[in-house]
Amino acid sequence: MNADIIILGAGMAGASLAAMVADERRVLIIEVEDQPGRHATGRSAAMFAETYGNATIRALTRASRQFLLSPPPGFCETPLLSPRSALFVSDEGRLALLDREEASASNVYRRLSGAGARSIVPILKEGWCAAALFDESGYDIDVAALLQGFLRAAKKQGATLILGARETDIHRLAGEWRVTTAAGAFSAPTLVNAAGAWGDLVARSAGAAPVGLQPKRRSAFLTPAPDGEDVRRWPLVIDIGEEFYFKPDAGQLLISPANEDLEVPCDAAPDDLDIAIAVDRFENATSARVKTIRHRWAGLRTFAADRSPVIGFDPNTDGFFWLVGQGGYGIQTAPAAAMTAAAMILGRPLPDEVAREGVTGKDLAADRAGLNLK
Ligand SMILES: Cc1cc2nc3c(=O)[nH]c(=O)nc-3n(C[C@H](O)[C@H](O)[C@H](O)COP(=O)(O)OP(=O)(O)OC[C@H]3O[C@@H](n4cnc5c(N)ncnc54)[C@H](O)[C@@H]3O)c2cc1C
Repeated sequence: MNADIIILGAGMAGASLAAMVADERRVLIIEVEDQPGRHATGRSAAMFAETYGNATIRALTRASRQFLLSPPPGFCETPLLSPRSALFVSDEGRLALLDREEASASNVYRRLSGAGARSIVPILKEGWCAAALFDESGYDIDVAALLQGFLRAAKKQGATLILGARETDIHRLAGEWRVTTAAGAFSAPTLVNAAGAWGDLVARSAGAAPVGLQPKRRSAFLTPAPDGEDVRRWPLVIDIGEEFYFKPDAGQLLISPANEDLEVPCDAAPDDLDIAIAVDRFENATSARVKTIRHRWAGLRTFAADRSPVIGFDPNTDGFFWLVGQGGYGIQTAPAAAMTAAAMILGRPLPDEVAREGVTGKDLAADRAGLNLK
């Protein structure tokens, strides 16, 4: 089967890009798994926080807000965002970190005393929580609706999704990529690497140099709400050193040790130790006790060395396009990242939403300083 663009990976990255280019190009999305979104995308904490991540991530997140608040007609049946504040909490010993964070987005944060934080989340321990920053501009993202919305939009515009397509070979011949898989052989002049944790492996298979992606495991579990607490309106509570976080999830609490354990690309599973550390940190900072663990999981957050995404054509390999390295922010940045990638592939200037936030192609390029290609 021939196309103009083959996208490898049907997670949030591949699906969002497909939706942005399929009305102008013939698009094939090729996914190894039998369903889309099975890896990082299906395992996220579903947060939208403009105060999370480095400056490039924050800019792409701001540039995504409008799409997420007001997606195109017919994109989805329910809102993609629902309000969810974030509370960055600190003990006495790390107030300097809280000060630094406050200075980075002073227009967004409201500083609270320990008592002020406890008036919002009563389980925060009096002897532990010394102060907090309250960000009321955040949201929960309906990740499944967003992914399905992108896939539906892509298909409506003519894109084809091929599932269960384990590749046996990728090579370039006479200006075309030819991808041979268990589900058939496909060719196109442009190959997009949206393979998440597998991004560097895909590059190697295609004969391109890896950019040095680091997949890092993050684990989480669900536990019933603490006795007598209605947690549904609680904010996401993040430790200022990012050593744990918890947030309401359908009336329960989702708790994570906020770990970043280096992994090889894989179907990630939580270590018992990850869960034990999360319980310990949660119980140290709160008066609540974890009595039951209802569901536990882990996923890979995949970073480039400078923790910004890699978006752009490979400078040394014809027709090979990178859309990887979204780290722990690939849901909240997906619309802007995909619009940016689409503009680059279609040979247009960066979209206004993104340029206005000060992001340039150089910030995202595969051969920027600090990455392997440089
Ligand atoms: C625990 C956790 C919490 C998170 N919380 C948040 C959050 O609150 N907010 C946020 O914005 N982000 C969050 N993230 C990050 C977010 O989930 C990721 O950045 C995002 O899902 C990355 O999307 P992706 O499409 O690049 O990767 P993936 O979803 O992993 O998709 C890559 C796809 O490529 C496929 N693939 C691999 N190799 C090949 C190949 N050779 N050919 C074809 N297909 C291939 C894989 O099967 C996979 O489906 C979190 C992540 C984790 C793990």
